[in-house]
Amino acid sequence: MSVPIIRSVGELRATVADWRREGAKIAVVPTMGALHEGHLSLVRAALEQAGRVIVTLFVNPKQFNSAADLAAYPRTEEADAAKLAPLGAHLLYAPNIGEMYPDGFATTVTVSGVSEGLCGAYRPGHFEGVATVVAKLFLQTAADLAFFGEKDFQQLHVVRRMARDLDIPISVIGCPTVREPDGLALSSRNVRLSPAERQVAPKLASVLFDAAARIAGGAPVDETLAKARSEIVSAGYAQVEYLELRGDEDLSRMSRLDRPARLLAAAWLGETRLIDNIKVPVG
Ligand code: AMP
Repeated sequence: MSVPIIRSVGELRATVADWRREGAKIAVVPTMGALHEGHLSLVRAALEQAGRVIVTLFVNPKQFNSAADLAAYPRTEEADAAKLAPLGAHLLYAPNIGEMYPDGFATTVTVSGVSEGLCGAYRPGHFEGVATVVAKLFLQTAADLAFFGEKDFQQLHVVRRMARDLDIPISVIGCPTVREPDGLALSSRNVRLSPAERQVAPKLASVLFDAAARIAGGAPVDETLAKARSEIVSAGYAQVEYLELRGDEDLSRMSRLDRPARLLAAAWLGETRLIDNIKVPVG
């Protein structure tokens, strides 16, 4: 069993038109490849809710704000296709750069509000790159449903806002973060960690879980976040970019737990930037 690979938007549209004639509900799972269990969990969720599932694989240069990060990004298309086939995904759409951004391409999708602060503050242009490519993927696939991981929580909000604002008729569904047994959130960037860094890495998640539990239990937000920051650094992380409590529904800033919240963090472990977030329930 193998998964068909399509590289042009013309072929993609023809296939989707056939599926539409059959009356199938269509889902899309956008990825940059180097697939791991986190991605596969999205594909499984999509297969539960749609008759046809398109996985997209495109390492989008517009969302990288460092040329070195783009160059180092893992590219494993053959292995990715081999992981998708047994799940029953119906199509791998893997366009090349020229298909997505032909000569003369001049449009950028900017989402204000939810893309400001957090990763948006440290990765200039990142969410414009994400919103632009995801808008294209939504329009190219014409899917009914799109599956995204909560692992990239701000991205999930940016994509939802973009689809709503542009009247793209697609439901954006967020799925829980898949973690290693020691708590580390799965990420394509984890392969860059040295064995020593890999030992330290789960501390980010454990500090977040701990701080979230303390805040949920009534501990003061600012003090708890300051303590958590120093715990992440003491564990061996080089630097905490941000550690913030935000509204779960709209990413609005929060200084006390008066509504459902998310604790979100980005931190550098050696040369690798890791992000994570967890929900903080109220009451
Ligand atoms: P990426 O290939 O990193 O752009 O991710 C593609 C999709 O997989 C995005 O919707 C991510 O949020 C999601 N994803 C990445 N890591 C995880 C994870 N550990 N658990 C759940 N979803 C994930």
